[in-house]
Amino acid sequence: MPLAEHPYDLPDARGHFGRYGGTFVAETLIQALDELAAQYARYQRDPDFVAEFERELKHYVGRPSPVYHAQRWSRRLGGAQIWLKREDLNHTGAHKVNNCIGQALLARRLGKPRVIAETGAGQHGVATATVAARYGMECVVYMGSEDVKRQAQNVFRMKLLGATVVPVDAGSRTLKDALNEAMRDWVTNVETTFYIIGTVAGPHPYPMMVRDFQSVIGRECLEQMPEAAGRQPDVVIACVGGGSNAMGIFHPYIGHAGVDLVGVEAEGEGLATGRHAASLTAGRPGVLHGNRTYLLQDDDGQIVETHSVSAGLDYPGVGPEHAYLKDSGLARYVTITDAQALEAFHDCCRTEGIIPALESSHALAYAAQLAPTLPQDRILLVNLSGRGDKDMNTVAERSGLRFYCRPECDPSMRTV
Ligand SMILES: *Cc1c(COP(=O)(O)O)cnc(C)c1O
Repeated sequence: MPLAEHPYDLPDARGHFGRYGGTFVAETLIQALDELAAQYARYQRDPDFVAEFERELKHYVGRPSPVYHAQRWSRRLGGAQIWLKREDLNHTGAHKVNNCIGQALLARRLGKPRVIAETGAGQHGVATATVAARYGMECVVYMGSEDVKRQAQNVFRMKLLGATVVPVDAGSRTLKDALNEAMRDWVTNVETTFYIIGTVAGPHPYPMMVRDFQSVIGRECLEQMPEAAGRQPDVVIACVGGGSNAMGIFHPYIGHAGVDLVGVEAEGEGLATGRHAASLTAGRPGVLHGNRTYLLQDDDGQIVETHSVSAGLDYPGVGPEHAYLKDSGLARYVTITDAQALEAFHDCCRTEGIIPALESSHALAYAAQLAPTLPQDRILLVNLSGRGDKDMNTVAERSGLRFYCRPECDPSMRTV
């Protein structure tokens, strides 16, 4: 089956989701993007390519990931039943690897021996370094120098996997600056290099391609839910940073009668404080990183600093398809604060024996809000996009808990 066979037929040939998406890049990249779109159109229908992708997902990633009934938590909340799609059980601990495998296989078909990536928290960098090692490719990861400091463990992981990590000293020294630098590398080395983008953003065909690779999540749910829960869910809930885990679980359900799609953005310290990352809820349309979408910007159109307790949601833009789904009413978007996400994080740990990623905890928090307002026979399906191992330091700091750590590794932890 082709990766993208679905009655909902967006984007158009130019990568537009209604008034969003498209291609806003330097002239030098147009040819490379056209070539990529043409090759992708060919390989997504190529049975050998699709079979290899599926084989890798099964044997390397460990798919299909299960759907799991969070029975104790549902009972405690006293309303709708919460089910979890367990992307946390994937190799490398999150959904990002699905997309990295797809793009790396494409890079091999296109004869590119070198892959590059941008990363914020380091999760996409680790997933890219992982697949580069798996396929014997050279790998360079661009990371803001501020993030290099904050995410030392992921930097070390990437190095163990054989990648070169390049700290970026421009701008706010975070994800958006790393993205600009990766684009610059790609312009220069486009003959030998494949740029693996980590979410459903960037110029066409990336938002479509990443969505298609991640749609394995929703396609599995379509099959698994009738068998495990007796029917399809009433509500599908996913956190939205760039939006790839959400697009992955939403896409096969778009337009599915009786299934409500809800994306959860990071409200950080509250919308009124300005310290948040809720691009769809509080942003307005503009152009960033090659596409038109909702952006957090000031009155002069300058991109503003964002904040979230979860680094993976800390991005001032969002994939253009979400912008379209929001405007068209095909999905709705809500927000969850840092404090609410942390509360859901602890509840999930203690009630279900699952330590979720802080990103995923935003989706869990919304499910925990919604469940008690609905009858017990309703089903909420939450995309548990990743596991929380990477978040131990953040949670310890934010919860006032003591986390044992050798004193030299972090001065703020010397209280142990
Ligand atoms: C990176 C990340 C996200 C956010 O990225 P999306 O593209 O919005 O999915 C969410 N959850 C986890 C676990 C992540 O690592």
